[in-house]
Amino acid sequence: MSTELASTIAYLCRALRAPTIGRVWQDLAATARGDGWSHEEYLAAVLQRQVADREASGTRMRIAGAHFPALKTLEDFNVDHQPSLRRDVLAHLATTIFISKAENVVLLGPPGVGKTHLGIGLGIKACYAGYPVLFDTATGWAARLQTAYQDGNLEHELTRLRRYKLLIIDEAGYLPFDADQANLFFQLIAHRYEQGSILITSNMPFGRWGEIFNDDIVAAAMIDRLVHHAEVLALSGDSYRTRSRRVLLTPTPKSGDQPQQPSKEGQFSAVEKGSDFSRR
Ligand code: ADP
Ligand code: MG
Repeated sequence: MSTELASTIAYLCRALRAPTIGRVWQDLAATARGDGWSHEEYLAAVLQRQVADREASGTRMRIAGAHFPALKTLEDFNVDHQPSLRRDVLAHLATTIFISKAENVVLLGPPGVGKTHLGIGLGIKACYAGYPVLFDTATGWAARLQTAYQDGNLEHELTRLRRYKLLIIDEAGYLPFDADQANLFFQLIAHRYEQGSILITSNMPFGRWGEIFNDDIVAAAMIDRLVHHAEVLALSGDSYRTRSRRVLLTPTPKSGDQPQQPSKEGQFSAVEKGSDFSRR
């Protein structure tokens, strides 16, 4: 094979922005000759490698662009620890069909039961399915919207966020919002209504969202839009974080006197006791 032909192919691959073809065409040609592939089979094999690489790098870029706080997969989620979790619903969500319909997901439950894990896992599924995703905590979203508002850019920011087919709002309820933040948050929810998906997690049952947003009416209006087309999953049980520690502590007679290990959400666990996470 002439070097002229090789450099022509190298040039054409650059022009097509198909670096994988540039990398694999020679090796595959040798395999094709050895194994007696038809021209068509060879062409398909070369193109397939390029498409596979492009999809993988697209997924990698979407996962990086989503700003997940950690990489958690649905496959790593132990559903046996959540017996009340509706597995059929989770399996349906994992197909990401809800995103194509701009439907929402609400994950409710006390700290440590896997809300963030499931949120990230579903977000990663969305990245694999080709959907741009953006993750932030509720506090992070409030700050982002406040900055845009102060810069006179709120409309622009809300429109820009449309390019993300799934927004993940984690930990609504850990920190209460003031009236301005609640209003901005409402605008975000209202703007995405039937336009793009939101996945929101909260340690507060709906009945207490008035406390998060300092306003029962704003909270009710928000819940109304969120759940109109949504799967609401209530997680329950003990914190997965502290379960092994509890096992260690249980045999100790004085374990009840032990102060709880400080955790990010430690200060809220008292609030959680006796909360009712059923859908209201
Ligand atoms: P939450 O957001 O509800 O407070 P997280 O999702 O942060 O809880 O879960 C706390 C930790 O426990 C994380 O490291 C998470 O990966 C893990 N975890 C929680 N539930 C499960 C589960 N059912 N299977 C596997 N890991 C879990
Ligand atoms: Mg969490």
